[in-house]
Amino acid sequence: MAEDLNPHAIARTQFDNALPYVDSLVGWKGMAEWLFAPEKIVTVTLPVVMDDGLVRTFQGYRVIHSTGRGPGKGGIRFHPSVDEDEVKALATWMTWKCALADIPFGGAKGGVTCDAAKLSLEERRRITRRFIAALGDNIGPHTDVPAPDMYTDAQTMAWIYDTYSMMHRGTNSLPVVTGKPLDLGGIVGRSTATARGVFFCTERFLASGRLPKRSTIDGARVAIQGFGNAGRHAATIYRDAGAVIVAVSDTRGSALAPQGLDVDAVCAHKDASGSVVGAPGTTKGDPRAALEVECDLLIPAAMENQITLENAARIKAPLVAEAANGPTTPGADVVLAERGITVLPDILANAGGVIVSYFEWVQNLQNEQWEADHVDESLRKHIYRSTDAVVAKRDEMIAGMPTYQARWQEMRPGATPLRNPDYRIAAAVVAVGRTKATAEARGVWP
Ligand code: GLU
Repeated sequence: MAEDLNPHAIARTQFDNALPYVDSLVGWKGMAEWLFAPEKIVTVTLPVVMDDGLVRTFQGYRVIHSTGRGPGKGGIRFHPSVDEDEVKALATWMTWKCALADIPFGGAKGGVTCDAAKLSLEERRRITRRFIAALGDNIGPHTDVPAPDMYTDAQTMAWIYDTYSMMHRGTNSLPVVTGKPLDLGGIVGRSTATARGVFFCTERFLASGRLPKRSTIDGARVAIQGFGNAGRHAATIYRDAGAVIVAVSDTRGSALAPQGLDVDAVCAHKDASGSVVGAPGTTKGDPRAALEVECDLLIPAAMENQITLENAARIKAPLVAEAANGPTTPGADVVLAERGITVLPDILANAGGVIVSYFEWVQNLQNEQWEADHVDESLRKHIYRSTDAVVAKRDEMIAGMPTYQARWQEMRPGATPLRNPDYRIAAAVVAVGRTKATAEARGVWP
């Protein structure tokens, strides 16, 4: 069966799945359309002199999905898959992620369509500077605040800050971007924050007793797909908590070791060779093999559309914690639910990155420097609180199903009955409910 893999169409399906549970939205079509539509889409063309002296043209995008709850917030990625629909979807997910984390930001995202792995450092620097110059005042400390995402890092954020700051002399521009180097207003623990947040979310969820047969991470067999910032740090963090890492992967392939792999050796092999494939003590598999191994916890940490209708029936983990944005399609969600597999959704599980970005932003506004313990403890509290909120919301939704079904049939006569809500739907209900409450409180201007 073919499924629509367009990320923006997927975001819409997720939104529609949440609507029947958000009071007053189900029948209030205009309000729902407003909450889903992106506020602003900026497309820029970037001419860049490459190392060979020739000019190449790149496309850049910045989408602000919502500023309802605060300035736009979200990363910038450099990747060949970047296009308007992908950036729109990622911006929408940021709105929901920030609302669920209860931090005072809306949602935004940006990207440049390019194969960053094939660009030199200097070429990436020129693309970044030209992109930020082209965006001009579309970003700003109180309007829209970028951060790292796929194939961008603290160095990229330093260039973003510097470019913006050169155009805004005499003001404190540090809060215009987060994920900066420590020597430039960055915060301790930002690079590990996404993985740490995934860890806190699984830890809290397991402790809630909602997963049969497992209540702690200690001794769990963990498979991680993707070995970028999120996947790599996750391997170390879960290993340190007593988990056994049985598979990792990157774009070139998987490194599999059913009895457990040596995380430090895999990291060293990745640094030396550019890939985890062929790391000592592991066998080779194709890039998606890590998704399908026997394990207790699967962490997709690569990108969108990795668990689809094509492979959902072969996922063996009873628990999936999404470190990537959008790794599971709506079709796969249904298959996983039918098979009794629990998914901790991206907007909940991977919010650690943007939560610590928020701490960095506060730190920069106040010209202060937070301590590592303070960052870690505050992150833990935020993730525990939102995990508890999603678990409680799902319980409440399941208990109220007869009422929700009846209301649904009344609003949409003849519609397919609602399926039992999973944690993705519950998370979206909390998030969309909060953005709706804010929108109602503010009213429609003028
Ligand atoms: N790019 C990350 C995400 O998708 C972090 C965004 C941020 O820190 O603003 O959540």
